[in-house]
Amino acid sequence: MKRLEVENLTKRYRRDGEPAVDGASFSLADGKLLALVGESGSGKTTLLRMLAGLETPDTGEIRLDGRVISSPGSVLAPERRGIGLVFQNHALFPHLTVEGNITFGLRHLRRGERAEVVPTVLDLVGLGGYRKRYPHELSGGERQRIALARALAPNPRLLLLDEPFSSLDARLRQSVRDDTRAILRERNATAVFVTHDTGDALSIADGIVVLRKGRVQQVGAPPEVYHAPANSYVASFFGTCNFLPLRGIAHPSGARIACHIGPPRATDPATAGIWVRPEDLELVAPDKTPDGGLQGEVTKVRFHGAYLDVKLLCRLPGHGEFTVTVWHHAPFMVNPGERWGISPRPRRK
Ligand code: ADP
Ligand code: MG
Repeated sequence: MKRLEVENLTKRYRRDGEPAVDGASFSLADGKLLALVGESGSGKTTLLRMLAGLETPDTGEIRLDGRVISSPGSVLAPERRGIGLVFQNHALFPHLTVEGNITFGLRHLRRGERAEVVPTVLDLVGLGGYRKRYPHELSGGERQRIALARALAPNPRLLLLDEPFSSLDARLRQSVRDDTRAILRERNATAVFVTHDTGDALSIADGIVVLRKGRVQQVGAPPEVYHAPANSYVASFFGTCNFLPLRGIAHPSGARIACHIGPPRATDPATAGIWVRPEDLELVAPDKTPDGGLQGEVTKVRFHGAYLDVKLLCRLPGHGEFTVTVWHHAPFMVNPGERWGISPRPRRK
C-alpha cells in the first residue's frame, strides 16, 4: 500500500472560475520524497493545502495509509492527520526558544517524552547546542533546519514543505536542500515539497509531479521527466530543448538516430518533429556530416566555461529555416559565420 494516494483531485475557488487544481492523481511510497513543480499559479500550493487539510476538494479524494482523509464530503482536521508542515518563511514563533518551538507541537506528550525528543531532532539537523537560542539568533539556513526539526519532532506520517528553500540565497540553497534530503532519508520520512525550481526537484526528489494550470502533465522520476518528457511543455520546463521539424538526425556512423526525447504526440503533420536537448547534440566538421545530415551556419556563440552555447541557422530543402542550439564541449573554438555539421551524441542506454 502507498503511504499517500491522491485521486482525481479538483479545486475551484470560484464556482464559475478555472480550477486551481484539475483532476490531479499521483501516489507516494513510504520513505520517498515527491516534488510538486510548476510555474507560479499552477496550483502547487492549493494541492499542498488540500493535502494538509486546509482546503476542501470539489472532487476526488486523498488517502493516507489507505484511509480517506479528504473528500468533498469530509476533511479530517489538519491537526488530526499526522502531517507535519514547513512553510516558505520557516514561520518560527519569535518569542519562543528553539526548544519551545519544537515542543510546541508535542503538547500531547508527557513532559519526560517531550524532553527526550528535543535533543534527538536537534542532533538530527546538526544543531545540538541550539536549544536555548531564539529565532532572531539564527541564520537563514539554521532557521530552516529548526523548522524541519520542529516538523519532524512529532514523527509525522507525511511531511509537507512549501517552497522550503526559496528564501535562502543561491549558495546556501544548495547545501540546505542536500542536508534536508539527507535528514529526511535518515529519518525515513515521507515528504511532499513544492518548488518552482527545477534544480531542486531534479536533484533531490525521488518523484516529480509537473503541474500546469492545475493539470498534472507528467508524474515520473527525475531522469524520466528530463529525458522522456510527456509533452513539449515538460520538455521545455526542465531546460533548453530544441524543436526540430525533422523525423530524425543522421549520425556519422550511418545510424539514423531519431531523437533522445521522442516525437511529441502531434496529430498535425505540420507541427510534427523531434525534441532534442542541446547537450545531446555536438558539432562535427561539415565534411564529416553524412548524406542527409544536418548542417548549419553559426549565428551566435556564448562561452559558459564547461561548454559553448552555440546557435546555428539550418536550411533544409522542404523544411525551411530553423535555429538549433548545441552545447558544445570539445576544446576548439567555434565562430559566428562558420559552417558546422550537427550530430546527435550517442547515448548509453
Ligand atoms: P502556485 O502555488 O503554483 O503558485 P496556487 O495554488 O497558489 O499556485 O494558485 C493556483 C491558482 O489558484 C492561481 O490562479 C491563484 O490565483 C488561485 N488561487 C490561489 N489561492 C486562491 C484563493 N485563496 N482564492 C482565490 N483564488 C486563489
Ligand atoms: Mg505557491
